[in-house]
Amino acid sequence: MNLHEYQGKELLSSFGVRIQRGIVAQTADEAVAAAKKLTEDTGTGWHVIKAQVHAGGRGKGGGVKLAKNLDEVKDIAGQIIGMNLVTPQTSAEGKKVHQVLVAEDVYYPGDNKPEEYYMSVLLNRGTGKNMIMYSTEGGMDIETVAEETPHLIFTEEIDPALGLLGFQARRVAFNLGLSGTAFKEMTKFVSALYTAYVKSDASLFEINPVLKTSDDKIMAVDSKVTLDGNALFRHKDLAALRDKREENPIEVEAGELGLNYVDLDGNVGCMVNGAGLAMATMDLIKQAGGEPANFLDVGGTADAARVEAAFKIILKDPAVKAILINIFGGIVRCDRVAQGVIDAYTNMGNINVPIIVRLQGTNADIAKELIDNSGLDVLSATEFQEAADKVQNVLS
Ligand code: GDP
Ligand code: MN
Repeated sequence: MNLHEYQGKELLSSFGVRIQRGIVAQTADEAVAAAKKLTEDTGTGWHVIKAQVHAGGRGKGGGVKLAKNLDEVKDIAGQIIGMNLVTPQTSAEGKKVHQVLVAEDVYYPGDNKPEEYYMSVLLNRGTGKNMIMYSTEGGMDIETVAEETPHLIFTEEIDPALGLLGFQARRVAFNLGLSGTAFKEMTKFVSALYTAYVKSDASLFEINPVLKTSDDKIMAVDSKVTLDGNALFRHKDLAALRDKREENPIEVEAGELGLNYVDLDGNVGCMVNGAGLAMATMDLIKQAGGEPANFLDVGGTADAARVEAAFKIILKDPAVKAILINIFGGIVRCDRVAQGVIDAYTNMGNINVPIIVRLQGTNADIAKELIDNSGLDVLSATEFQEAADKVQNVLS
């Protein structure tokens, strides 16, 4: 589950990570009130208005702007709220902005020039350890840094049983070329960031940029937080931060129906029981010249009600030109699934894409008979390849 920047920052702050302070606003007037309050609390005269959507690269897309007075706060917030923000990380349609973060300007001039760094905490599955990735090249796209100047990216591996050790936090500060106050600030920043990552059961914390202010404070200017969905049951407060508006609406609906569904770009809808079989089915569709429109695991109980729910979800995607149902009847009996398909098809009435059903396992022969005699526009198959050939036929 992903958090908004402002939610991630609140989480970080609760663990003692210094952040660029801000207040979230839903309207231009709220943004002005937020700016006034921030000026009282922080003394800042300038504010940055930041679109809150689940996508990075907002700066490049015009979703992060500096306001030098309250009129500008109102104008900019008015422009950004309601816009469809297109960034390198969104689709071409972009993402609708429902709210902005009004934040204090932290790039104020002073004794030193402000500096931007990159830092993330994540799990290295290869070593089974947590890892802090960091770089002097902050504020830019880290993928580009990795491609063009990989020697400027450092990693620090942390044994989860030992936690982040003092010398490791100091090494991070040293490699970033810091000294004096900024060095001490950075070791505190890194420790607090790592604690926040562990205690919130996150799978990613990415802070880009981490800022060294002109007066040597180290703070998080941005935050991208991904929480481990499997651990949310023990973080009710964090689970409540979910913003379904940011998620694919069909996936949200499928989740509520208990279906394991992932929306994809192709034209062949899949309805399969078991994740492994679903993956194999997607491979087969590709081999047959199609592209899977989705991943869908209906689970162990493929009864009429579930099949119907799955049909409805698949058909919400207008790109679907054919549906391949691939069920292995191990625990479920194929004839019951076949009856489920027939009932669901009859109930829905308006399915106007060809359906290929491949049922294998217990009572597969009875199932094939049921489908073949149903009089419905459903093609049956018993072999995997046969099903693929039929998909190819209906697509061509
Ligand atoms: P992203 O583009 O979605 O990654 O959003 P960020 O939160 O990283 O903001 C984008 C850029 O806005 C940063 O890299 C900064 O250069 C700039 N920015 C953020 N906060 C401030 C600020 O307080 N003052 C100024 N002048 N620029 C800022
Ligand atoms: Mn950023």
